[in-house]
Amino acid sequence: MPLAFTLALSCGAAAQNVERVLLADTQSGVRAWFSPDVGLWLEGFGGQKRVVIGRGSEPRFDAQGQLWFTRSEDDGHEIRRRETWFLARGTAVPVRMHGTGPAYRLPAPSPRPLGAPVKVVIDAGHGGSDPGALGNGLREADINLAVALRLEAWLALDAADARGGGDWTILMTRRSDTDVSLASRANAANAFGAASFLSIHMNSFTTSSANGSETFCYTGQEGRAAGLYRNRVQSELLSAWGLTNRGVKTANFYVLRNTSMPAVLMEGGFITNTVDASKMKSAASIDRLALGLLWATQEHHGFTRYTPSSGPTTGTLTGVVYDASQGTGARIVDASIVLSDGASQRSVATTGAFSFALPPGTYSYVASAPGFAPAALTRTVVANQTIWGSPGLRPMIGPSIEGPFSTVAGNPLQLTVRADAQSPVLVLIGSTPQLLTIGNFGVSVPDLTTSVAVSLGVVPASGTLAASIPTPVASKGARVLMQPFAFVARAPKLGNAAAFELK
Ligand SMILES: [Zn+2]
Repeated sequence: MPLAFTLALSCGAAAQNVERVLLADTQSGVRAWFSPDVGLWLEGFGGQKRVVIGRGSEPRFDAQGQLWFTRSEDDGHEIRRRETWFLARGTAVPVRMHGTGPAYRLPAPSPRPLGAPVKVVIDAGHGGSDPGALGNGLREADINLAVALRLEAWLALDAADARGGGDWTILMTRRSDTDVSLASRANAANAFGAASFLSIHMNSFTTSSANGSETFCYTGQEGRAAGLYRNRVQSELLSAWGLTNRGVKTANFYVLRNTSMPAVLMEGGFITNTVDASKMKSAASIDRLALGLLWATQEHHGFTRYTPSSGPTTGTLTGVVYDASQGTGARIVDASIVLSDGASQRSVATTGAFSFALPPGTYSYVASAPGFAPAALTRTVVANQTIWGSPGLRPMIGPSIEGPFSTVAGNPLQLTVRADAQSPVLVLIGSTPQLLTIGNFGVSVPDLTTSVAVSLGVVPASGTLAASIPTPVASKGARVLMQPFAFVARAPKLGNAAAFELK
């Protein structure tokens, strides 16, 4: 039986709506498309399956329904090699027919790309008087907006980068913390003539154990474009955040029901779960999710997954950790640097340096090392710039005793301790107090078999601590050993000792 074909070549602005359909097999429903971004691709084989062929031209169907096309190698001026390929009906792998045609001059490049920008809607859920879900100190509306704005930035970078990806016109349903009704969101998307709609939400539950990611399309849309977009979004969500897979689902949500284009609603994670919320608190995690959503949107619209690189995306936060009592040349190696968004690093063994690649934003960070008081800094990272911020740590000082103190047996022992502010202080009292070093870790702990340990508390900001040791402990003739100690990976490490002997 002969097959009927229609040829719908675009020519001029009037054909912009069908600009990329080159060929359609009306009987099988297979359509061949071409765009400068993707090359040649097919839609219709195996249901909605899309086959991206890439570089190719001159597509034509034969009487058996096989697609033939041409691939050429060129140096930008002259065709060096031409090959004929074909794709059998219902298959996804093109077969090459060998052949080299004569060299000929290429036509002048087209001054503008064939395809028009794809219109996409990014919908940050909630906002304004509606904060959405609450939990772990977070408002859902803020997280949704942060993800949406990062995705908008990635889409804009992609549109500006001609080397790959897609070309986009973006409608944001909101770009700040404002009230936007569900009807306004759907109406705006419909009026915009969007090709896809992505609504960004975070979940919550009454118990903190509920967790994971899930993505929805409208009921009955599974297997159709909305369902396929939903599946891609869920897949990227799982790759980006690594949370529990709650699966792809359908729902009768307002924005899914009342939008006229393929629409998806994602629930990134549970704001009420601490693990999920840690992703929402991290600027790096939000950026990674937004990049995944760009990839899902690219692939949904027939583009090859592409990370745009033409614009600035991150800046560098760098510095060295040094001993502030000696100057910046005295580097502290293997110090811990913990960022406010959860990322952490250790300063390198030779230079005490650290370096984070971060999305633009303001970060506070704390550097700490055994034997030193922690120090905090705040810096604002700017895209494509290196921002320096070197924390100087001061050594913890062994405490000294300020007298006079009572030495009368049977009375409380009154002490005033001077030490680094925020240093915990421990007093060991015994006839032969000593410190034991455990294993290879250099962690010293009091030997309680020969002494009694009394925690005096934490030296306040003034640097002094007044304490009273109860009578039975402060017996005449005892030795008192005072220790500041730092917590290193949950193990108390005692610092410089100061001992005195009661008369
Ligand atoms: Zn929500």
